[in-house]
Amino acid sequence: MNTEPKTSVTRRHFCQALTATAIAASTSSVASGATVEAKQWIDAHSHVWHPDTNRYPISSNFKPEAMQPASFTAEELLAHCKPAGVQRVVLIQMSFYESDHRYMSEVMQRYPNTFSGVSLIDWNRKPLQREVKRHKRAGMRGFRMHSRGDAQGWPTDRNVQQLWKLANDHDLAICPLINPEDIPAVDALCKRFPNTKVVVDHFARIGVSGKIEEDRLDQLCRLADHHNTHVKTSAFYALGDKQPPYLDLLPMIQRVVKAFGSDRLMWASDCPYQVQDPHNYQSSIDLIEKHASFLTEADKIAILQGTAERVFFA
Ligand SMILES: [Zn+2]
Repeated sequence: MNTEPKTSVTRRHFCQALTATAIAASTSSVASGATVEAKQWIDAHSHVWHPDTNRYPISSNFKPEAMQPASFTAEELLAHCKPAGVQRVVLIQMSFYESDHRYMSEVMQRYPNTFSGVSLIDWNRKPLQREVKRHKRAGMRGFRMHSRGDAQGWPTDRNVQQLWKLANDHDLAICPLINPEDIPAVDALCKRFPNTKVVVDHFARIGVSGKIEEDRLDQLCRLADHHNTHVKTSAFYALGDKQPPYLDLLPMIQRVVKAFGSDRLMWASDCPYQVQDPHNYQSSIDLIEKHASFLTEADKIAILQGTAERVFFA
């Protein structure tokens, strides 16, 4: 995540159509009869992209060098997932594609019941309701809100307010990718729209500085007062010591489990960044599955499967 390219996104470039392909309804057993041994895991946050930028063009706001690695296709992702017992993945639209979701949509169609999708929407586009419905018809289950230093203005932005309301109306999740200092902005929106489903990415990036900021962790845990907030326990490669096996992150995980309960937490890799040397896919899963001794079997099933299944696949 921290390696994702940072440019200011010009909203007028949000003009390319989504591939309006309805995605076949996903199977859902909502973790009934699940066991840790059976490993039916869901990765709640990963990106894919295709090296052919003629076929799948990136936005003019980004340079091709932003694609690091140059290729990370669905097949490359699944090659990491399958041996680790991960059966399904929530794809998160990559920033350099902006509003052109054609690669993600194609992948979702090619592998029915394997992928769910979280898209990028231009909340300044009118009429927003039509946009929201279009994304939903294309199989998207949530919207990514990427803070680029603008999150403090979200609570008073009328278009953002409308997006949060429409997300609730259409049973879609809001997925904020924020920095620790943006937690109060999300808190304000959760207060105003208590029924909107919210999934905060990567512990709100607490620990990206190398240090787990306790005051920010307190703020994140207070978001649990809003009953529809969830947190992705994810992107371990980018937080704290940033070294596998990531044991320094266990106290933070224990705190969020205590605050939210495992039914509102979901594990995610944030590939391809989690699979760049010295990091690898299995070490991310192992932190939850093997090293978090404070988690019960039911907690692990919730974090590695059940919560994401309910929010993104049910
Ligand atoms: Zn990401």
